[in-house]
Amino acid sequence: MVFVADSMLGKLARYLRIMGYDTVYQSSYGNQRLSELVMEGRVLLTRDHAIAKLYSNAVFIDSDLVRDQLKTVDRAVRLSRDHGKWFSRCLICNSPLSKAEGKVAREHVPDFVFSNYGERIFFCPSCERFYWPGTHRERMVERLKEWGF
Ligand SMILES: [Zn+2]
Repeated sequence: MVFVADSMLGKLARYLRIMGYDTVYQSSYGNQRLSELVMEGRVLLTRDHAIAKLYSNAVFIDSDLVRDQLKTVDRAVRLSRDHGKWFSRCLICNSPLSKAEGKVAREHVPDFVFSNYGERIFFCPSCERFYWPGTHRERMVERLKEWGF
């Protein structure tokens, strides 16, 4: 299951990426881009009712709240509850993350992060951001669990 979220759905795209879903999101799309992505087999998530009607593979999102948006997607396609896939994807550019080699991680993250999470530091090969567990991530995990994921 792979998604493309329209330019109104940045937060929703972020949460789907947290859950490990390949989700294309751009703040704007050229004329043909959105339909190309749908033709590739991505499920279109859109706030635009008229656009949703153009595609059989589209989910119309009627709420502004990310919690309700996720629930709408879940009702339409039944999202996985496999927490093993969470945080396996870059939240910024959507690429799959790789494990950071100890030496590389040590050079790129604060010392306390390295000593606490050395084995659990990941990085994005595309945009070169580093990821590790922490309070920000814990908050997102708690929120997802509260919402039933
Ligand atoms: Zn990235």
